[in-house]
Amino acid sequence: MKVVSYSRYSSDNQREESIEAQQRAINKYCEDKGYTLTRNYIDLALSATNDNRPEFQKMISDSKSGLFQAVVVHKLDRFARNRYDSAIYGRKLQQNGVKVISVMENLDDSPESIILRSVIEGYNEYYSLNLARETMKGLKENAYTARHNGGQPPYGYSVGPDKKYIINPSEAEAVRVAYKLYCDGLGYIQISNALDELGYRTRTGKRFSKNTIYDMLGNEKYTGVYVYNKRASTSNGIKQNRKHKDPEDIIRIEDGMPAIISKNDYEKVMHMRNKNKRIGGKYKSEEYALSGIIKCGKCGGAMVGNKYQGGRDRGTLYVTYQCSTRKRTKGCDMKSINRDYIESEVYLNLKEEILDKLETKEFQINLANRMDEGGKELKIKLLSSQKKLDDINKQLENIVNAVSAGMDPTVFIDKSNDLNKQKQQLMDVISSAKFEIIEESIQMERVRDTIKRAEIDKDLTALFKAVIREVVVTEDDFVVEYLIMDRV
Ligand SMILES: [Zn+2]
Repeated sequence: MKVVSYSRYSSDNQREESIEAQQRAINKYCEDKGYTLTRNYIDLALSATNDNRPEFQKMISDSKSGLFQAVVVHKLDRFARNRYDSAIYGRKLQQNGVKVISVMENLDDSPESIILRSVIEGYNEYYSLNLARETMKGLKENAYTARHNGGQPPYGYSVGPDKKYIINPSEAEAVRVAYKLYCDGLGYIQISNALDELGYRTRTGKRFSKNTIYDMLGNEKYTGVYVYNKRASTSNGIKQNRKHKDPEDIIRIEDGMPAIISKNDYEKVMHMRNKNKRIGGKYKSEEYALSGIIKCGKCGGAMVGNKYQGGRDRGTLYVTYQCSTRKRTKGCDMKSINRDYIESEVYLNLKEEILDKLETKEFQINLANRMDEGGKELKIKLLSSQKKLDDINKQLENIVNAVSAGMDPTVFIDKSNDLNKQKQQLMDVISSAKFEIIEESIQMERVRDTIKRAEIDKDLTALFKAVIREVVVTEDDFVVEYLIMDRV
């Protein structure tokens, strides 16, 4: 009989036999029984309750090929983690004429074996859930005593021998500098540049991205509050998909870890951040106000609106602009950019470059002068053209009078044609000069009107469209090209 083997090892279960041990037992068993082992399917280092078993899925789908008649496992719990698994996958294999054989549990198709099989499966399921529960208990105990619960400690901290957090002096310095610079009024990109120039790096030796700085400035841990989200891994291993975290799921211990930032400074930064958010936030934000205007700085493609659930437990909604080239062909490595972030940064830039200038006396005077100067020039042009036109009209009138007095009209043909041509040219100049005078003032009024209306309607899209030609973004910077810059 041709058979395959399936082995699985979960790193969080210390009591399991290693893959080598499972494999050894399977090989010996097949040899004893005279089975031909054609392939080994192995899933490694996955948690006891993790649903993702790529090799297992491959084995199930290969069972259709008819190339093997049985799957040999060390123990039944390697094959099925619960009765659901057992029923579903057992049935799929059965349909393909493939049996499940356990090395350790000697089960055949007798009625006794069928009952025994379900007892074993029931026990396995209980064991797996109990293990997850015990692990969870341990994590919670760690959390209640403000101890590190695995993974990377937050930037700025190390883990001490008692698993409590201690300050990492050089990292903590970078955090303090970032807070200080934000209080001084620097934006995320400027802080990123400043940290880079000062030689601060992330743990992986990279420069701080604006997203990292954004997270850093909002992390309450730096004030000494230990926070642990119980929901991050749940008792049955199934990750919860919640938008709002239940406060009961959060273990929060004041002074649970050493503070890097004072409560005062933290509050100040939070306050400034909320204020900055509201500036852009007073506009409608359900839509992508920059769509059609925003371009990828890496490939020149359009950046398009893209929403997705992500984060540690898929509980966070990300609203972003994504490079359309990357979305379509993966031919660009530009990262998605947070919509609220880029819109409020562009708004702040627009406010500084355009809106505030529109309100200053200096600009109003400048504009008036420009209009006056331009107007003067145009008016002089207009007056002299008008004078020339009057002159031509008089000459034409003289010709008409002479002809009506009996002179031969053919004498005047060339002269008359030439005068009419000049007259037409002058009339063109005059009308375009008049138009330019009106146009100049209308343009500025129109821009000002649009801006005012957009502010009243809280229509960020209309505001951006009115004044911006293009926003080019890279991961750490952006450039705004204004339509009316030459006028302002
Ligand atoms: Zn791109």
